[in-house]
Amino acid sequence: MPIATVNPATGETLETFEPLDRDAVELALAKAADAFRTYRATGFEERAELLRRAAGLLDTEREQIARTVTTEMGKPLAQARAEAAKCAKALRWYADHGAALIADEHPNDLDVADSGAALAYVRYRPLGAVLAVMPWNFPLWQVVRFLAPALMAGNVALLKHASNVPRTALALADLFRRAGAAPGCFQALLVGSDTVPQLIRDPRVAAVTLTGSEGAGRAVGAAAGAALKKSVLELGGSDPFLVLPSADLTAAVSTAVRARIQNNGQSCIAAKRFIVHQDVYPRFAAAFAEAMRALRVGDPMEPSTDLGPLATRQGRDELASLVADALAHGATAETGGAHAALPSAGWYYPPTVLTRVTAAMRVYREETFGPVAALYRVRDLDEAIELANATPYGLSSNVWTTDPGERDQCLRELEAGGIFFNGMTASHPALPFGGVKHSGYGRELAGHGIREFCNVTTVWLG
Ligand code: NDP
Repeated sequence: MPIATVNPATGETLETFEPLDRDAVELALAKAADAFRTYRATGFEERAELLRRAAGLLDTEREQIARTVTTEMGKPLAQARAEAAKCAKALRWYADHGAALIADEHPNDLDVADSGAALAYVRYRPLGAVLAVMPWNFPLWQVVRFLAPALMAGNVALLKHASNVPRTALALADLFRRAGAAPGCFQALLVGSDTVPQLIRDPRVAAVTLTGSEGAGRAVGAAAGAALKKSVLELGGSDPFLVLPSADLTAAVSTAVRARIQNNGQSCIAAKRFIVHQDVYPRFAAAFAEAMRALRVGDPMEPSTDLGPLATRQGRDELASLVADALAHGATAETGGAHAALPSAGWYYPPTVLTRVTAAMRVYREETFGPVAALYRVRDLDEAIELANATPYGLSSNVWTTDPGERDQCLRELEAGGIFFNGMTASHPALPFGGVKHSGYGRELAGHGIREFCNVTTVWLG
């Protein structure tokens, strides 16, 4: 994939970038190794100040960076502004709480008395340079979600961002430089994905984190395994959205629409499969299809736009082929399902609601990375959970019920890294984020995220 800024709203190539050559990659790795030797000796307060200054710059430059994001990947401008604000919040959260999350842990003296230690404790030490392979869908947030805890823990970072968001990658690196990050502490490497295995193998890279597709996850996980390096994988999702008879239907419908179309439908934690109890199905289905039909599709820079273009032509075509396959096998499009009445240039896809979806269709199993919802009618909660789990993915899930018994059953049986009741899945700095099954392994955010890239060191004094 060429490294380029291509506006998805028009299809116009605005700028192309030469990938770094071998010497430039070597220089970056050497700088990271040098930077780590100094940076690991800094105190928590100094690291926290760096994060706070970066947050301040993100706040003052929000409009400019949001426009860069929208230009490169097409999300509505208001959502790009919100993403920048969320990043500033996460930076401040780790600045405020990071030190406590990885403070020395002193086990109860009684527990270690028979170990022969006069004193024993656990120290969370940094690992070194962590490589982050990141996607374009939340091009600020995915990076900051990894970077804030990594820097707070004393690691340094190398970013290999998606090839379609180079301006955002460079803007982030520049922002941290101006915030006072020492040279080599955080570098954006403009390289293709073919350079990733070499980076993972390099002894100066200690660990790797990837957010992206299942295929990229397998490749990065295999390379990390071969090099015996720690990896965290945040991959795709096909999150279920269960609606049960006790649900507040009005709230469930409006949340369902937002949960499906956030980020133009290109979010791993977007609700993608809507599984509705037969008692409320007719009302839910009618209101949901109507609300999806009413969405305004158009220029993401326009404040009135609900849904912009998909980020890449390839993504749009892949989504269109999933829907075409479903329709060819007997699904019904209650709304959407074609390119009709959309802007002629750019990679737009209409909001689409599919019913009569069966296991014979690709859309039943595969992730729909765009504004396409599959709607299912079920007899009871048992059938709802069986269908919810009938996917290779296990990222998050949404359940609409006020019944404590139903809630308990979901907590026992739903295969997912998150279960959100009566709301939509959203990440928050204080809550761990990640999945099971083909959605990956490891956790980001909260204490779990900062400890992923630490050397959990046992200190024993005789
Ligand atoms: P990719 O997984 O292809 O891209 C994500 C990142 O991984 C990019 O930096 C990419 O680099 C890199 N990458 C891709 N292949 C490899 C590889 N073999 N080895 C090392 N690095 C690699 O995502 P796409 O942009 O192609 O999106 C397609 C699908 O990915 C979506 O349908 C969705 O399922 C999933 N996805 C999930 C996201 C999430 O938040 N969990 C986010 C984005 C996508 P480059 O850009 O240079 O190819």
